[in-house]
Amino acid sequence: MKEKVIAYIGLGSNLSNPRVQVSTAAKEIAKLSVSNAITLSSLYLSKPMGPQDQDDYINAVIAVETSLSALELLDALQAIENAAGRVRKENRWGARILDCDILLYSDDTIENERLTVPHYGMKLREFVLLPLAEIAPNLHLPDGTSINSLASEINGNGIVKL
Ligand code: ATP
Ligand code: CA
Ligand code: CA
Repeated sequence: MKEKVIAYIGLGSNLSNPRVQVSTAAKEIAKLSVSNAITLSSLYLSKPMGPQDQDDYINAVIAVETSLSALELLDALQAIENAAGRVRKENRWGARILDCDILLYSDDTIENERLTVPHYGMKLREFVLLPLAEIAPNLHLPDGTSINSLASEINGNGIVKL
């Protein structure tokens, strides 16, 4: 039997009915799970990073128990983004229909051309830390940092839990 691991995935959308995009993605991600089950955080309304001439984002974090490798999981998530109609543009952090980032994959540290895990920006992003701390308050990063302490120290930047 393949090893099963818990992965945490951050979702974001600010186009084409973001709440529906995030909920639909959650259902698709459940299919990647060994038990067809996920733990989904509340939805959060957050301010955009980077370019400010775009709508606020809907964000959530999902925990999934999967037997996919980290790269297989990335492939599956990118297929879900593409199926939602995501178009990759030049401008970094511009508006998008759906973004699925692997935040954590078991306790692994991964560094290759396609994947950096833990996600490089997660310690600095309120729209990741707050939903993650909601579903996994006792979690620690591979370097030992407590998610709960990161979440309690981050500037909320106007984020609203829906
Ligand atoms: P950011 O990475 O700052 O959140 P972004 O999500 O908008 O920005 P994308 O255009 O969605 O960036 O992704 C660019 C590339 O990042 C992907 O093609 C993927 O190979 C790579 N990548 C590296 N680490 C990860 C990760 N942990 N989760 C998802 N993609 C990753
Ligand atoms: Ca992202
Ligand atoms: Ca991404």
